Amino acid sequence: MSELGRAGWSAEDIRRISHRVADQLADYLIELPDGPVYRRPPRELVETMRATPWTDEGASADTVLDEFAERIAPHPFGNGHPRFAAWVNSSPHPIGVFASALAAAMDPSVAGGNHASVHLEHQVVRWFADLLGWTGGYSGQLVSGGSAATLTALAAARHRAATRHGLDDRRDGSSDRFAVYAGSDAHSCATKAVEVLGIGSANIRIVDSDAEHRLRPGHLAELIAADLADGRIPVAAVASAGTVNTGAIDPLAEIADVCARHGVWLHVDGAYGGPAVLLLERYRESLAGLARVDSLAVDPHKWLYVPVDAGLVLIRDGAVARDTFSLVPPYLRTDGDEDGPGGPPWFSEFGLEQTRPFRALKVWMQLRHLGRSRYRELIERDVEVAEQMRAAVAQAPDLELLASGMSIVCFRHRPVGLPEDQLDAHNRGLLEQVQLGGRSFLAGTIVDSVFALRACIVNPLLSTADALAIVDDVQARGVARLRTVRRQ
Ligand SMILES: *Cc1c(COP(=O)(O)O)cnc(C)c1O
Repeated sequence: MSELGRAGWSAEDIRRISHRVADQLADYLIELPDGPVYRRPPRELVETMRATPWTDEGASADTVLDEFAERIAPHPFGNGHPRFAAWVNSSPHPIGVFASALAAAMDPSVAGGNHASVHLEHQVVRWFADLLGWTGGYSGQLVSGGSAATLTALAAARHRAATRHGLDDRRDGSSDRFAVYAGSDAHSCATKAVEVLGIGSANIRIVDSDAEHRLRPGHLAELIAADLADGRIPVAAVASAGTVNTGAIDPLAEIADVCARHGVWLHVDGAYGGPAVLLLERYRESLAGLARVDSLAVDPHKWLYVPVDAGLVLIRDGAVARDTFSLVPPYLRTDGDEDGPGGPPWFSEFGLEQTRPFRALKVWMQLRHLGRSRYRELIERDVEVAEQMRAAVAQAPDLELLASGMSIVCFRHRPVGLPEDQLDAHNRGLLEQVQLGGRSFLAGTIVDSVFALRACIVNPLLSTADALAIVDDVQARGVARLRTVRRQ
């Protein structure tokens, strides 16, 4: 009590304000679907937010919560709404939202130790390893997202390649003999990781894709063979279990064969599509390939609907991960008694972060609450809704389907008579009108050199009716836009 008093909050304050926050949470989650998908924050509000200095005098908790309700809550990103289908941002599951608050209350550092959050994270990691059929010797941890997972994995890949060639990358840094292979549709986080690791993007070999935007294993084999003949050191190949652009799944088993033949580390980016491949019957063949990776990135904060941030990296050979990152004085290294206060080997020895948040609680609560079968239903439904959307686009005379895979549909408005060289500008303008219109929300991308509207459905609130409403919105605004442009 006296300690709470010191922070200025009595037990009654805590209880009263927690109830108020619970109501705010519920209001937000319940009312969000009734409002516009996106509402641009007014200019004055933005200016005030950015210009207001931190004052000497604080404000009461009620005032701060009022300000949240008035200024912040009404101007969300857009995810959480049933007609948000942009990028790869899901609606959070309510239990994950509540878990976030509970995790913050406990606020451990999950660097390591012998406390519940450490063991819970091991359990969560194990649940994913179970889906791959991995039984031991692996390491895994929750990280901020796919980018951090990829950086972690490629650091381990480089360390293995360096060690095999008698190099000490930890002491000496990178070698200009290293090479990394990535599909032309690989996510930019692979390039970022290669750059940050000092390997340099000039040492990325881009592997050709086929007509369906899947990495061509034959070309990968050629590139690796040429590099080996040249005395270079192949560090890793990066393949995708669901590309972010079109939802293409690379032929993972064939790629794993190529990598195994040449002893090259295979990293698979499943940040977006991983959960679907791990859980859905329809991707069973891809799962067999996925089980053979050296490392895998999956983002629970995408297609598992966990609130940001929650990424996962799994590394098949846990010893390599530890050799890559372990940097602890001998008195902190805990290989001894796992029941002691030191607990199992610390997560901080297997990755980048030292102080680590309790991400495991929200992931665990959702997986535990929904179970495998409810997750299967939800993810399968997202794929089916995307199929309905794809069919609607394909049937519409003024829409053109450009690419589609998993729960992604890329298309454009193509009104009769509008010349090809005006389509990109038309669709760019149209996208902005859709985004500002408040009825639906899509992203834009480039598919085979043309501008596309891109829907990505990782949203359990988004029904087939919503998907068709999004298509309608695009058509209606597309026609209206054409009319105004022609009148000018
Ligand atoms: C989102 C995404 C990433 C990057 O993950 P973050 O969580 O945003 O860091 C990488 N690859 C794919 C396929 C993605 O969808």
